[in-house]
Amino acid sequence: MTSQVTRVLSVASECAPLVKTGGLADVAGALPAALAPLGVEMRTLLPGYPQVIKELKAAQLVAQFHDLFGGSARVLAATAAGLDLLVLDAPHLYDRGAGIYLNEDGLDWSDNAQRFAALSRIASEIANGALTDWQPDVLHCHDWQAGLAPYYLAKSDAANRVRSVITVHNMAFQGLTSVEALEQLEIDETDFTSDGVEYFGKISALKAGLVYADNLTTVSPTYAEELMTPDFGMGLDGVMRARRADLSGILNGIDETIWSPVTDPEIRPYKTPRGKASNKQLLRDEFGLPTSDGPLCVVVSRLTDQKGLDLLLEALPALLERGGQLALLGSGDPALEKAYLAAAEQPNVAVRIGYDEALSHRMMAGGDAILVPSRFEPCGLTQLYGLRYGTLPVVALTGGLADTVIPASPATLARQVATGIQFHPVTAEALTNALGKLCDLYADAKLWAKLQRNAMAHPVGWEHSAQRYATLYSNLTTDPQ
Ligand code: ADP
Repeated sequence: MTSQVTRVLSVASECAPLVKTGGLADVAGALPAALAPLGVEMRTLLPGYPQVIKELKAAQLVAQFHDLFGGSARVLAATAAGLDLLVLDAPHLYDRGAGIYLNEDGLDWSDNAQRFAALSRIASEIANGALTDWQPDVLHCHDWQAGLAPYYLAKSDAANRVRSVITVHNMAFQGLTSVEALEQLEIDETDFTSDGVEYFGKISALKAGLVYADNLTTVSPTYAEELMTPDFGMGLDGVMRARRADLSGILNGIDETIWSPVTDPEIRPYKTPRGKASNKQLLRDEFGLPTSDGPLCVVVSRLTDQKGLDLLLEALPALLERGGQLALLGSGDPALEKAYLAAAEQPNVAVRIGYDEALSHRMMAGGDAILVPSRFEPCGLTQLYGLRYGTLPVVALTGGLADTVIPASPATLARQVATGIQFHPVTAEALTNALGKLCDLYADAKLWAKLQRNAMAHPVGWEHSAQRYATLYSNLTTDPQ
């Protein structure tokens, strides 16, 4: 336990439950409560999107800026959903409909570079003492949207500069923008080099973070290793290798106050795998699926190339032949949405296109297995929910999926530690084999129940990882600059 309080400013573009498009929001939302018992006082800086502003309680104006990338802005201190927030209220950047990153046509807002450079700029100002009554000891930036904050901080001439960490939740999103924006984004021309913010002729906000932050983390140990390879580093593997000494992988946890089969208000609560049966029946009814002898597989996912769900379409006939079923909830790539809707013409396949948090809980409770065939997966959360709910994960051997699922094998079964199935390489053929193995295991009811118990007992909370972040912050504040 750290004896002294460490103040941390966490900077993120989304934070559950207020605004979420993916796992980053869950992590940003869960970290403050997980860290509080460890002597870390974390405040979260978020953009003032309409859905955030309307939830604020007892908002206080704590800073004002007359010209922040083309308009005036203020920082509001407030609480919402149990979070201690600093909200960047800048209507010219954030007060708009459609998505937080995408416009009505599903395209990136054309000023995304400015919108998140503004967030990063204010983060660095707060780190440098812009608020009269609170200054962080550490600046913790998440993903490209906060990537310029370590740059602005490094370039400021503050004495006793606050130390910074950047966490990569997904290397695929790099915050690229044209070189013409250098001046507008207040980036020094001399920093537009391969050792600085330049990425194949463009400015990369993520690269700025990776180069200028004092410390780098990502969300699983395996992804940390993968990021240093050309296959996964997305052109930044050299930067990651250069920063190897400052890079670590800290696994995401899940918020067990939200994801627990014992207390989940969306489901028929259960403590043992037996309690899943009634949830399974309810789920089949909800999806209009008939009874069947095979496992009911669920998928809750963005429908993108990363998630490998095109491979599942190819492997699906083999699952159905064995009496298996599929219930999928997701949205994204229109071609994949269309292909899944077509697949759902079959009797044992049901598909919901959309985003539905409550339904995702019922799927975890009612499914027998959760499928995550990702081509790459920094950490992945749905396999962790699956473990907690006794819904066995069938996952690709990559990133956080490799770190969180213990594959069934004669040795792991004998030691009673197996929690799911892993497959490699990430091909339709290997997935087909994995689904065959799933059906074999499922057919042995006694063995299946054992696997479910192992899964439900596997730790998936924040405890261990929160301790690692707390240690990292504490090391940063005590290390000589
Ligand atoms: P990523 O961040 O790459 O999308 P993760 O597995 O880390 O993947 O996190 C995804 C999060 O979003 C999980 O909490 C998952 O339950 C949720 N999610 C994804 N798609 C949907 C959907 N269509 N409906 C409800 N929740 C979803």
